[in-house]
Amino acid sequence: MKYYDIKNPDQKVSLKEAVIKSISSESGLYMPKHIPVMPDSFFAKLPDLSLQEIAFEVSNAILGEDIPPEALKNIVNESLTFPIPLKQLDENLYVLELFHGPTLAFKDVGARFMAGLFQYFLQDDDREVVILVATSGDTGSAVANAFYDKKGVKVVILYPSGKVSESQEKQLTTMGGNITAFEVNGNFDDCQHLVKQAFADPELNRKLNLTSANSINIARLFPQSFYYFHALAQLGTVANPIVISVPSGNFGNLTAGLIAGKMGLPVHQFIAATNINHVVPDYLKDGVFNPQQTQHTISNAMDVGNPSNFPRMLEIYQKQHLSITNDVCGFWCTDEETRSAMAEIYKKYLYQADPHGAIAYAGLMASGITKDHIGIFIETAHPAKFPEEVEKSTNSIVQIPDSLKNCMALEKNALALENSYLDFKQKLKHMF
Ligand SMILES: *Cc1c(COP(=O)(O)O)cnc(C)c1O
Repeated sequence: MKYYDIKNPDQKVSLKEAVIKSISSESGLYMPKHIPVMPDSFFAKLPDLSLQEIAFEVSNAILGEDIPPEALKNIVNESLTFPIPLKQLDENLYVLELFHGPTLAFKDVGARFMAGLFQYFLQDDDREVVILVATSGDTGSAVANAFYDKKGVKVVILYPSGKVSESQEKQLTTMGGNITAFEVNGNFDDCQHLVKQAFADPELNRKLNLTSANSINIARLFPQSFYYFHALAQLGTVANPIVISVPSGNFGNLTAGLIAGKMGLPVHQFIAATNINHVVPDYLKDGVFNPQQTQHTISNAMDVGNPSNFPRMLEIYQKQHLSITNDVCGFWCTDEETRSAMAEIYKKYLYQADPHGAIAYAGLMASGITKDHIGIFIETAHPAKFPEEVEKSTNSIVQIPDSLKNCMALEKNALALENSYLDFKQKLKHMF
C-alpha cells in the first residue's frame, strides 16, 4: 500500500519510507492511501481472539501487502508482551488500562511496535538511523526503552527541563547505551520546534539519517488501533452504544481510535478529552482551529498547544467539521477538576486513576451517557508515575512497581541544552 503526504497528496511513498523518514520533505504527515474495513467474519470471532491475534489480523489488513505474515507475527509477539485489560468499575463503566508495559504508560504499545518495524526494514540496510524525539513526558522513555540496544539506531531525546515528573525524568535519562537525553531550557513546544528545525536542515540531513518517533510517525499509530478492538473483544457481545473517552495531547491515541472506527469497529462516539490546552475541543465546538502556546498542567503528557495529529483527524473525515463532530465530541477540564475526578473515582470505585485517565473519566461523565450506553475511559499511565497528585487527591497510598523503584535509584544522565537551534545542531554534529 502507498502512503501519501497530507500536504501534497500526489506525493506517495512506500511503507518503508513513511516509517523510516516519518515526515515528508515538506513536513507533511503520511496517511495510508486507503483504510481497509475488517470483514464481518473477523467481528464475529472477535470476542474469542487474544490481543496478539487481533493485532496480527488488524495489522495484516493494513500492512500485509508490505510485510509477510511471519515477520508481522514476530513484530506483534515481540512488541505486545504485556496485557491490556478492560476492567469493569460499574454496571456500564469500564476502564481500559494501557499502562502495563515496561515504562508504565501507553506509549510502550506504539514505540515497541515501531521498533519492530524499524528492525524489519533496517535488517538488510547498513544505514544508521538517528531518532530525534521531543517528549512532554512519556514518549521519550517508551522510545528509549523500545529502541535500547537495537542495531543501527541511535536515539536522541529532548525534554523540557522541570516540566516532566521525577519518575518520567529518571526513565528518560538513565538508559545509557545508544540513548542520549537533552534537558532543554524551554517547554515542550520548544523541544518539538528544535526537532522540526533539525528535520528541515539540509546540511544535518546530508550528514545524518534523521527520523522521528513522535506520534507523527505512522508506525506508532497503527498498533494503537489494536487495543480498541481488544477492548471490544473483552466486552463481548453487547447491543448498547459504546462511548470511548480518550485522554489526548498530540491526539495520536484518538486518531488510532478513529482509524479503528473506519475499519469497522462499532463505536457510537469518541470523546477527545484534554486539559486547559483545549484547541481541539474548541475546534469541535466552533470549527476553528487555533493553535496556542502550551500551558503547564498536572496532566503534563497532554500539555500540547498545537497537536501534531490534528491534520490526520481532519484527513480521516475529509476535513468535514460536521462529519468529525458526528463521531467525536470534545471535553476539557482544569487541574482542580482533574483532582476532583481522581477523588471521585477513588471514592466511588476504590480505583486510583492517574491525572490523564481521570480527565478521560470526567469527559465520560460530562458526555451525558445513560444506563443504556457503555462507557469506556482510557487510562494511559500507571498512577505511580504521578504519585504525589494521586495520593493528595485520593488520600491513599500509591504502590510503586519494582521496575520503577529500580529506575528511580539510578543516576540521572542528561546533557543541558539552551533553547537554541545552533547549540543543538553543534551538539548533534559532534555526537555522530
Ligand atoms: C502521551 C500521553 C497522552 C496523550 O496521548 P496522545 O496520543 O499524544 O494524544 C495521554 N496520557 C499519557 C499518560 C501520555 O503519556
